Amino acid sequence: MQAKHTIGHLIDGQTVLTGERAQAVYNPATGVAEKRVLLADQQTVAAAVASAQAAFPAWRATPPLKRARVMSKLKQLLEEHADAICQLITAEHGKVLSDAMGELQRGIENIEYASYAPELLKGEHSKNAGPAIDSWSEMQPLGVVAGITPFNFPAMVPLWMWPLAIACGNTFVLKPSERDPSSTLLIAQLALQAGLPPGVLNVVNGDKEAVDALLMDKRVQAVSFVGSTPIAEYIYATGTAQGKRMQALGGAKNHAIVMPDADIGQAVSALMGAAYGSCGERCMAIPLLVAVGDATADALIEGLKMEIAKMQVGPGTDARSDMGPLVTRQHWEKVRGYVAQGVAEGATLLVDGRKVAPPKGYEDGYYLGPCLFDHVTPAMRIYQEEIFGPVLGVVRANSLQEAMDLIDAHEYGNGTCIFTRDGEAARYFTDSIQVGMVGVNVPLPVPVAYHSFGGWKRSLFGDLGAYGPDGVRFYTRRKTITQRWPSAGVREGAVFSFPSNQ
Ligand code: NAD
Repeated sequence: MQAKHTIGHLIDGQTVLTGERAQAVYNPATGVAEKRVLLADQQTVAAAVASAQAAFPAWRATPPLKRARVMSKLKQLLEEHADAICQLITAEHGKVLSDAMGELQRGIENIEYASYAPELLKGEHSKNAGPAIDSWSEMQPLGVVAGITPFNFPAMVPLWMWPLAIACGNTFVLKPSERDPSSTLLIAQLALQAGLPPGVLNVVNGDKEAVDALLMDKRVQAVSFVGSTPIAEYIYATGTAQGKRMQALGGAKNHAIVMPDADIGQAVSALMGAAYGSCGERCMAIPLLVAVGDATADALIEGLKMEIAKMQVGPGTDARSDMGPLVTRQHWEKVRGYVAQGVAEGATLLVDGRKVAPPKGYEDGYYLGPCLFDHVTPAMRIYQEEIFGPVLGVVRANSLQEAMDLIDAHEYGNGTCIFTRDGEAARYFTDSIQVGMVGVNVPLPVPVAYHSFGGWKRSLFGDLGAYGPDGVRFYTRRKTITQRWPSAGVREGAVFSFPSNQ
């Protein structure tokens, strides 16, 4: 089918429709290519970087309070346009509208945090660091900063990055996912409406060519990336080799431990949302459930099967749908391939979501019902690899320590959680588990905007996590100034020893 609408770039405050290459953007609910997105070439990326570079001096000199006011105005505009933004998310990503609303809300919380810029950028001051000497540290912006984001949170993940970077005085070039770019672009347009000067935030759509152009551009000082681990590793290695400050957040395979003393009903309902919400396309989703003891496993499975039977799979725009389609046909095929792989590897497929028929009128959509495996083991690919679909695997363990050893041995360390009533077990778990974000009876322990988000091991390359205090650190450079104003009384000759306070 002929694509109807062309999605371009936002450079210097203008919509730009340059570039030879384009890619179809599908509505996953229908399987129809409703739009096409232009894929930026090197010249287009260079124009965006040039615009950001030109906007930097004036933006850097703009008082943080004025920068923060733009954020406050943007929050208001996003709330006013929330329905339109969420419709775009659902039309290109597939997630249900209520979930789109949830991601937008979490994104807005990052804007609220960024609007504290004057407080966040106060720095540190020491009077009389030496006789009549004052010393202070300033948090200065870096210059042009870039962000590269994944498909699964087209509103929220970009909002982890650019509001804080911009509030800190940087200018920004964002390269969103080419699979669902429209909500990201609309939010950027609203930022202009909120008073962001042209060039402070630019959006280039594209693929590897655009990303590589950003990584190789000497004017780009730092890059934030969120996406899959192989790409995160490539981005981090390439950017650091160019001397850039880098942070690259990667994939995940999060385990939930359920202890025999847990409230099974609460665990089941929490795990349903964590495993199948957004079709499992979340880096904090729970695709692995480690049940301690066979009785725990059996009780959980019974509860999960009952809840799965009630689930509605359908278009994200239908308020009755609990779960929408997967993002693309290619991804749909990949996830179904993992289900077949799990069967071939010897796991017990208790619920086969492949049997769920697409809703009437949506036969070409990328629907897959919830899948549930029992007897998953660490030797299996469905245990080791990130599936990013509605596939939950139950692993049986005999003790808390055995369950924790599994988690610690896994290559990813993004999120994890434990369900228990035992405070001592929970404390031991939170203290020693080798994972960056940990929940206790909380299945998706995504840190709030005034903490920071970051996994461990191969879930994060770099030293600093996203948003919150780590974000401020990432998007600023400390400069420490030591100052003395000589007066007649303190004039001295040259001092050749290392300065000290002795
Ligand atoms: P992806 O790695 O395919 O793409 C992410 C970004 O990288 C996109 O903008 C894409 O255009 C670009 N890209 C893709 N291939 C590239 C290449 N070869 N060279 C340069 N750039 C390239 O990820 P995705 O499928 O869009 O998103 C899902 C992944 O993101 C999952 O692995 C998920 O766990 C991860 N994720 C992680 C977090 C986190 O905070 N750790 C959050 C959300 C998503």
